[in-house]
Amino acid sequence: MTPHAATAAADLETDLDIVKKPFEAEVYDVMGNSSRWEVKVHEHGLVALLDVMPRFAPVGKTADFAIVQAARVSYGEGTKQVNEDRGLIRYLARHRHTTPFEMVEFKFHHVMPIFVARQWIRHRTANVNEYSARYSVVRDRFFKPTPANVRRQGTSNRQGGDEPMDAATASDFLNYLDEVEKSYERYQEFLDKGVSREIARIALPASVYTEWYWKIDLHNLFHFLSLRMDPHAQQEIRDFANAMFALVKPIVPIAAEAFLDYNFESMHLTRLEIEAIKSGRPIDTTNKREAAEWDEKKKRLGM
Ligand SMILES: Cc1cc2nc3c(=O)[nH]c(=O)nc-3n(C[C@H](O)[C@H](O)[C@H](O)COP(=O)(O)OP(=O)(O)OC[C@H]3O[C@@H](n4cnc5c(N)ncnc54)[C@H](O)[C@@H]3O)c2cc1C
Repeated sequence: MTPHAATAAADLETDLDIVKKPFEAEVYDVMGNSSRWEVKVHEHGLVALLDVMPRFAPVGKTADFAIVQAARVSYGEGTKQVNEDRGLIRYLARHRHTTPFEMVEFKFHHVMPIFVARQWIRHRTANVNEYSARYSVVRDRFFKPTPANVRRQGTSNRQGGDEPMDAATASDFLNYLDEVEKSYERYQEFLDKGVSREIARIALPASVYTEWYWKIDLHNLFHFLSLRMDPHAQQEIRDFANAMFALVKPIVPIAAEAFLDYNFESMHLTRLEIEAIKSGRPIDTTNKREAAEWDEKKKRLGM
């Protein structure tokens, strides 16, 4: 050992007194002593909740308590006026005081098709560890829509489609997917011949499944869910987002309710839209898309 390494090692062996304090109140495991909570999505997909921070909550409270605890540290005396946890969380959500929501974290295990993972990975605020198809053999799992979910290209929404195709075309498409899935046999054939896994995988379709561990805090999870539970998101990723919300909701019910009330089911109004409401006149725009968006909002408002 070099003299420098010896000094560094000695520094680590301090006699610092680590005080380990018991919980101040009786606590319980917010996951009910389970190792994981799982929801199956489609035929092969999975959303599993593996862990939560805080894992323990005082009896009588939910993991929402960590949001309140953080807010009371940051605002100190200022939060005394709001003496009820639910009221404080809803205030924070309404006023976009987001950092207290970052004190709650979730670790998930997701199994999803690569075309869904491509959309999902655009959310940069999660920590991700993905299955390596260079290191391991890709498993024989492919996404196949139901016939009703072979959707027709939308005319107004260029990115998506809601209406199902006619039965014959849907059936044709599903047969085509069967053909594509046969590429798996050839993948295996080339692995057997000694082609590296990193090269052999490149011909596999985007419907093949990948999996990852995904850790995110509650603020960023709500941002993800607001975009991916939304009807504008592709149905297949929405199915995963809805499963995640279902898993998280019983753990932070107060924050989840506030998310629905002030974010997901709320509505943003532009200055032009506010002017249209105030004047009672049509919206002042020549942009057809903007006018159509205003029509949608008016419907929701019952106007
Ligand atoms: C319906 C829909 C259609 C879409 N269509 C397309 C498309 O056609 N093409 C396409 O490329 N993408 C598309 N996207 C992806 C979209 O543009 C975003 O990349 C994706 O939704 C992630 O959003 P985000 O950046 O807000 O999220 P996150 O990456 O989770 O970031 C959360 C927030 O953190 C902040 N942030 C994170 N990283 C940075 C950074 N580097 N710099 C500054 N701020 C940062 C931002 O405020 C951001 O909103 C689509 C998404 C949706 C929901």
